[in-house]
Amino acid sequence: MFFCLALAGCFHQDDDDVEQQADEGYEEVGEAGSALVSDYYIPDDGASAPPLAISWVTTIGSTAALSTVSYRVKNTGSTSRTFTLDQRAFGLDDRSLTRRIGDYTLSGGQEMQGAVTLSTIPVKSVSHSTQLAIQATLTHNGEPLTLIGPPAFTHYNSCGDGNPGNVNIPVTDSCAGPFFTNIGPEVVPGSQLPGDMVWKNVIAHELGHDVQRKLNGVPHRTYEFKNGVPCSDPNELDSLCQPDDTSIGSACRCDHVVSANRLHCLQSRETMTAGNAEGFAHFMGARIWNISTQSDCTYNYYKEFMEPGGVVKQPPYKVNCKAATKWRDNYCFSGSRGTEYDWLQFFWNLNTVSANKLPLGDIGAIHLGSCGGNCETLNMGVDWLSLRTAAENHYGGALQPKALYFTNTGDAFGVDETP
Ligand SMILES: [Zn+2]
Repeated sequence: MFFCLALAGCFHQDDDDVEQQADEGYEEVGEAGSALVSDYYIPDDGASAPPLAISWVTTIGSTAALSTVSYRVKNTGSTSRTFTLDQRAFGLDDRSLTRRIGDYTLSGGQEMQGAVTLSTIPVKSVSHSTQLAIQATLTHNGEPLTLIGPPAFTHYNSCGDGNPGNVNIPVTDSCAGPFFTNIGPEVVPGSQLPGDMVWKNVIAHELGHDVQRKLNGVPHRTYEFKNGVPCSDPNELDSLCQPDDTSIGSACRCDHVVSANRLHCLQSRETMTAGNAEGFAHFMGARIWNISTQSDCTYNYYKEFMEPGGVVKQPPYKVNCKAATKWRDNYCFSGSRGTEYDWLQFFWNLNTVSANKLPLGDIGAIHLGSCGGNCETLNMGVDWLSLRTAAENHYGGALQPKALYFTNTGDAFGVDETP
């Protein structure tokens, strides 16, 4: 799914400019250029006067998440023309595929508009852009003529490829999968840096999911709710499944997030499994960009954050990843739910603070114990009681120092079953 888009080259250029550039180019290649022009020359078909003018209607001023792009075809002459319209996609190992849009007739001077649904174009490149064009084929002066409109460049986000019905994931988002880590093409605001590099903590977070995958499996989870109840499966395509539990207040929802998906955010109350999975990825990001032996920890969060009182802060939002914020306990307690905010701070303290801190391998083993061997296969397999039991089993008893530290840290950081 999903798809994004950086549309480029979608704007009308002045015809004179185009011709001037072309002329300069042909002068440089000399005879070969003249021969090329001659081969393709059709009488009355000047470059600046094609029988049909194809252009994009959709324009964007910056990177945007679009699900469709609109085009326009105009009959530039005075007589009726019949033509076939195709969408033509090029990319991904030089593959080019066309898909028929339809057959049309336009009377002289008449124009038509249509739209291409980006999730359905025939070539979807993930790591590079796909070039998309509208092409018209017609008979012109007795010869077949294909006219290709200006290219648009669309970037497909692999985050959505496994879930093409989920419109809640913008094409610019990032995600980690078993065979790739996809970093969205969003450009850091106010910088000239090219795409594919959003925030350093987005990259670190996604790689954190890959560490998690190797450690214990990325827990099987959902971010969606229907009437306050978690939807049964991450890929459930029920239109009533929404990114937030709407039975709770805005402090624990993602309504304020506009720059990325609202499936989950730092403060949203998710299932405990989802809060755990995302909090772990944040924790890995925090480990990458902090020195764990120092007394503080800072994590620049990359979506909007709504502070208590309702003020929305733009990213990057500086998070103290060592403190105990206890967001869930303070704003929307539920013993079976969690926030990635609290889980981030829990993992940081569990792994880096106190003489009883737990090494990463132990944290992974405890999760595997909680999930019965593989967290990827057990839907919503992470809950606090099974984690605590797994920790006690791992260390040989509830009163063993590390088991006790696990339990107490869960309470102190708002990820256990009690307020
Ligand atoms: Zn994540």
